[in-house]
Amino acid sequence: MVYKLVKGTSDIIFNIENWRYLEEKAKELCSIYGYKEIRTPIIETAELYRRSVGQYTDIVSKEMYAFFDKAERFIALRPEGTAGVVRAYIENKIYSGNRITKWYYIGPMFRYERPQAGRSRQFHQFGVEVFNCSDPMLDAEIIALGMKYFDSIGLYDVKVELNSLGDVESRKKYIAALVSYFEKYEKSLNEDDRRRLQINPLRVLDSKDRKVKELLATAPKITSYLNEKSQTYFLKVLAYLDALDISYEVNPYLVRGLDYYQDTVFEFVASLGSNNKVCAIGGGGRYDKLVLQLGGPDVAGVGFGIGLERVLLSLTRSFLDKGITCYIIPLEEKVRLFCFKLLFLLRENNIRTDIAFENKKLKNNLKTALNLKAKFALIIGEEELREDAVQVKDLKTKIQEKVARTKLVSFLRVGLINEK
Ligand code: ATP
Ligand code: MG
Repeated sequence: MVYKLVKGTSDIIFNIENWRYLEEKAKELCSIYGYKEIRTPIIETAELYRRSVGQYTDIVSKEMYAFFDKAERFIALRPEGTAGVVRAYIENKIYSGNRITKWYYIGPMFRYERPQAGRSRQFHQFGVEVFNCSDPMLDAEIIALGMKYFDSIGLYDVKVELNSLGDVESRKKYIAALVSYFEKYEKSLNEDDRRRLQINPLRVLDSKDRKVKELLATAPKITSYLNEKSQTYFLKVLAYLDALDISYEVNPYLVRGLDYYQDTVFEFVASLGSNNKVCAIGGGGRYDKLVLQLGGPDVAGVGFGIGLERVLLSLTRSFLDKGITCYIIPLEEKVRLFCFKLLFLLRENNIRTDIAFENKKLKNNLKTALNLKAKFALIIGEEELREDAVQVKDLKTKIQEKVARTKLVSFLRVGLINEK
């Protein structure tokens, strides 16, 4: 019996260097921008997502992995990062210092979706969340952070689409206009969209239905319903983006698949893989009422989530395994103790070293050294043991020379520097 992966999940084995690179770059950039890491649990109460992401969103109504635990608690595997981070912010009373809190996270999320390219059941997000700041400069900062992240990993053709959903007041007026527009076409709506129109009309803008998409062309646009405050706010966000020369496109129908947003919403869009299908690789926005809605004080929030699987699909370059520096090859049994000690001496000097375990032919061991992308093979026989020395073979130039063991570390360091 061969056990198989759960459908929609995957092992990360062969492109681990790419994954590490994506994660390290995110951490590096966040630290420069003043964001600290937060790690929240993979499981939360399902109710948290119903209250925040929204009961009628696809995420909560169709895609959530939720179950009762042995004590009949209703638990969900997190489908997104924001709700858990907001919960942690409130539960740990982080707001009490009345400071701005800038956090980032990287980790797995779970959604029960039909697996296909760029869509899996376990996927990974890099996200940021900022609390207690309603400066439009911050909205621009996090959009810029996302774009700089893509730049830093060599993904240059990402576009930003953004929109403003306005504040509660603006949105109320807009929703009324939207409902009366779509009511005229109620017969051409499918059941899902008809239900959305009644319960949560903005969700209709997010519809994947072709007919609805066509109707959208002449539907009212939120941008014409923004009150002065929301409009000024939005224009400031755009001005800050202009100041950084970040190009963007205002998409008045962008609402995003989660209920908690208001004012600024945005998506990072790129083409995915070989078929060049354009899709969102990340998205985010402002959620100034979410902390309050989840039982905390009236504290503003803004953030994004970027899907790392989709980022990897859009990346055409790959980051290769750097390989090791030295591979030690003992030529006979009696030198093995000497070699074992040498192995640890080099490692203690931060030189990445491995050794040929088990007795094999020199030729086979040299092959292994090449497979491991070693720069040097350190070959040791009886003569070297007697002289307390090592044969150092540069695997690129094939030049071999005998080096005293006591000089080996500095010899290797010089070799490594010359190579750079
Ligand atoms: P979509 O419309 O493609 O379903 P979404 O609006 O549901 O995306 P968000 O909730 O905004 O996605 O999540 C942010 C990012 O997380 C997405 O842009 C995407 O990169 C990634 N993501 C979301 N769902 C999946 C998934 N099932 N598999 C892989 N990545 C995902
Ligand atoms: Mg989705």
